[in-house]
Amino acid sequence: MMVRLETREGPVTLNLQPGALSLHLYGRDVLAYDRAGRLWSATLGELTYRRGLDNRIQAIRMTPEGLQRRWLSREEVRALEEELARRLRELLRALSTPSLRWITPPPDPEDWFRILEALRRAAAMDFEALEADARRFTEVYAPIGILPPDQYLSLVVQATTGCPFNTCIFCGFYRSVPFRVRSPEAFEAHLHAIRDFFGEGLWMRRTIFLGSANALAIPMPRLIALLERLRQAFPLQADGSGRGFAGIYAFLDGFTGLRKTVEDYAQLRAMGLRRVYIGLESGHAPLLEFLRKPATVEGMIETVRRLKAAGLSVGVIVMIGVGGDRFAHGHVEDTLAVLKAMPLDRRDLVYLSDFVEMPGTPYRAAAEAWGIRPLSPAERRAQAEALRAGLRAPGGEGPRVAPYALEAFVY
Ligand code: SF4
Repeated sequence: MMVRLETREGPVTLNLQPGALSLHLYGRDVLAYDRAGRLWSATLGELTYRRGLDNRIQAIRMTPEGLQRRWLSREEVRALEEELARRLRELLRALSTPSLRWITPPPDPEDWFRILEALRRAAAMDFEALEADARRFTEVYAPIGILPPDQYLSLVVQATTGCPFNTCIFCGFYRSVPFRVRSPEAFEAHLHAIRDFFGEGLWMRRTIFLGSANALAIPMPRLIALLERLRQAFPLQADGSGRGFAGIYAFLDGFTGLRKTVEDYAQLRAMGLRRVYIGLESGHAPLLEFLRKPATVEGMIETVRRLKAAGLSVGVIVMIGVGGDRFAHGHVEDTLAVLKAMPLDRRDLVYLSDFVEMPGTPYRAAAEAWGIRPLSPAERRAQAEALRAGLRAPGGEGPRVAPYALEAFVY
């Protein structure tokens, strides 16, 4: 439900959806909150802010060179959140005057009450309240390392924590998190804690992401028991009120992916699984060996084949620039060959992820030992373009290709 009215400061648009409240204030600023009142994003002038549930905020600015991102300091977070809460309290005061000047027809009293209630919740979420909320978030969740870009608005549920391998020399997401599979009972308790934590904010989430790094590696009987609990806790079909999740999504590595059959994946699809993301990184076997990735190209092709035969879609992630000059040629050539050997279609995604050296990983030392020169930004762009061009299929039949910027991840 959307209403527009005129205040002394200028026009205000209030848009209340089942999952979110958004405000367009005075022709300049756009604020978005979940229905529990948590700030989700704010666009103020040229800057956009994205708040994570851990109460960190990323500032994003468009520049001629592209998007620039920066994490705010605690003091900046405090100042921004206090300022936004103050603005909302002021707006509530302006909206409490008896003679409002409506631009759209006035809403019926019940709808107006709901809008004001959502606004009051958001106004009550000042810095201290959001800090307390973030502490609850860290009690409910183990660290959420990364999600695919199309899943930032998913509801993460952690059937596992950590990664069973932790061998890949470029990856620092789960080094400090021991690998653990939750029992069905512990998972059920986790799901209840998630529901309590999100409250009305749950309905801003569109899909369910089964975390963490490789939850689909769980053997079938245990995985089925976990998915049954998941489906009981969270409805998968929209019920007409805008509440309900559009399927389950998850990462899978191409190594343990081979332990499941087409029939297994078809069973998971029947339980709501929709897309599986595989970190191919490269189709060049010597580069995978250098990266100590626990998978073979043949295994990854076969895993994708089984997933597709079961009717699932896939997201295949390729790293741009990894392995530097030494592996550059083989990386492009073999990755294209591997992607073409996968039965990918328009329902699938190929993500091109600009390689980032993560602190605390052995990548740099290994690269130096091998005498590897990092690729320049221009060389990386050329690598990405070569992959894009190689994947362009006549008639647009091939997979969609999209960037995957690790630094853009905010949950
Ligand atoms: S890249 Fe994937 S398999 Fe490798 S350590 Fe990271 S999470 Fe584990």
